[in-house]
Amino acid sequence: MDKKYIEKMLSKMDEDLSKKGMSRREAMKLAGLSGAGIFMGAATSASAEEEKIVKSNAKGKIVIVGGGLAGMSTAARLTLNLDNPDITVIEPEKLAVSYQPGQTLIGAGIWDQDDIAYNRDDFVPDGVKVIKEKAILFNPQENKLTTDKGTVVSYDYLIVATGLQLDFERIKGLEEAGRAYSTGDNSKLLKALGDDICSVYTAEGATKTWEIMQKHIASAKSGKKTKFVFTHPSTPIKCGGAPKKIMYLANARLKEEGARENAELTFYPNGGAMFGVPEYHDAILEQFKREDFKWHYRHNLIEVDKENKIAVFDSKWQEKGPWDPVMKDFEVIPKHEKIRVPYDFLHITPAQLAPREIGESDLGSAKGWVPVNKETLQHIRYENVFSLGDVAQVPMGKTGGSVRKQYKVLVDNLIALMNGKTLEAKYAGYTVCPLITDIGTVMLAEFDWTVSPTPSFPLDPTVERWVFWLMKVYALKPMTMYGMLSGKA
Ligand SMILES: Cc1cc2nc3c(=O)[nH]c(=O)nc-3n(C[C@H](O)[C@H](O)[C@H](O)COP(=O)(O)OP(=O)(O)OC[C@H]3O[C@@H](n4cnc5c(N)ncnc54)[C@H](O)[C@@H]3O)c2cc1C
Repeated sequence: MDKKYIEKMLSKMDEDLSKKGMSRREAMKLAGLSGAGIFMGAATSASAEEEKIVKSNAKGKIVIVGGGLAGMSTAARLTLNLDNPDITVIEPEKLAVSYQPGQTLIGAGIWDQDDIAYNRDDFVPDGVKVIKEKAILFNPQENKLTTDKGTVVSYDYLIVATGLQLDFERIKGLEEAGRAYSTGDNSKLLKALGDDICSVYTAEGATKTWEIMQKHIASAKSGKKTKFVFTHPSTPIKCGGAPKKIMYLANARLKEEGARENAELTFYPNGGAMFGVPEYHDAILEQFKREDFKWHYRHNLIEVDKENKIAVFDSKWQEKGPWDPVMKDFEVIPKHEKIRVPYDFLHITPAQLAPREIGESDLGSAKGWVPVNKETLQHIRYENVFSLGDVAQVPMGKTGGSVRKQYKVLVDNLIALMNGKTLEAKYAGYTVCPLITDIGTVMLAEFDWTVSPTPSFPLDPTVERWVFWLMKVYALKPMTMYGMLSGKA
């Protein structure tokens, strides 16, 4: 981890704490987190981590498609683990490694876009080649792919780390938005969304979210009853907490301005619960009641009427049917209808899916994602292909926190394969959602495939804590940008 960066981050934190008349140590004590090493400047040192690495002399040409968080961290780790690495990353986007978790903070005016923008070329590990093009055709039978500029690239081993696409175009009324990526030019999307619809799922969209949010907070402050509507789609999404985080932050900003009583905040998730882990679901429900939020389960956004400011949801429920004498039970009849919901401010979390060229290639699956063994991360059909990050078909794995566990497993298994050994490293499904519940508090929801909390700290994980806010705002970015992206954290 970059020492200078950590020092800068800690001194910024100290500056903020001194405004509250508090030292860092006092703050940790107050928060009940005396052992939070990273805040005390005791993060794992890079050199200590390096010492543990035993280099392999395995050989082979490795191509990584996608140089975002997962692709670049993997490239960095491979350069640490191989004596003679031959690695090529294919990545067209200049700001590929930008820090997406910060987009929620941008959406509420806490950070701005400069706080998360990082150049791909500054994070290319020594000796790794970069092709600044997009891979569009895959021929895994012949171990080849072709880019949008016609470059044919062959490989011995392929790692698919393309992240996902944001599917705004499937929403009627937003067809012209097309599909988007978090980073890059999203002017077409922003034009299609207009001035009352927003989404923190792109970096530019996060900045626009803050503009639109301020406009509607001002309107509520002026006395107008203002409806804030937040959606959660029917597909897997990256950072499952983000649709709620932006709602909590809008609530916090409304309270700051004394405008909360004129605002109605309503959450429309496609699913039937607030969170897949019962403990976190219960905690969030209590927070929703406390903050006087409204919610309606099993509502999927399918259309927007921008002119009349109406969001149309497909609402689903089940009814009891006739008695089935064979099954000896009542039939269950699925029902659904269109519900029209007026809004002033609409925050959309779009449906998400693998980039088209991956989902529809031989590397994809019926569900579109890249089908891998969820523990070894090896492709289920092509043994020299691996995948990780948002594009991999791994349950609950679409966070930077999951990538942090996955990339080391993938590297160990790839090197085992290159050496003709058994793949022994296993990803256990760890993921994390630092659920921002207010400006100043976070509930750190960590869990895995056991669908129960897996806290890293000896604290009740369902409690909202200020110290986790400090961690979210100050520590996680350097841990990602200088720890993970150097292949060490
Ligand atoms: C609003 C928001 C909040 C979030 N909050 C959190 C959080 O609090 N905690 C957390 O852990 N995670 C969070 N995340 C999720 C986290 O950022 C992602 O899970 C992580 O970035 C995934 O890394 P990735 O490399 O798989 O995808 P990305 O980082 O998106 O990188 C994929 C790269 O592949 C490239 N690519 C795509 N197609 C091709 C192609 N055909 N050829 C070549 N290159 C291609 C893209 O240009 C991109 O650079 C959040 C994300 C968002 C959007």
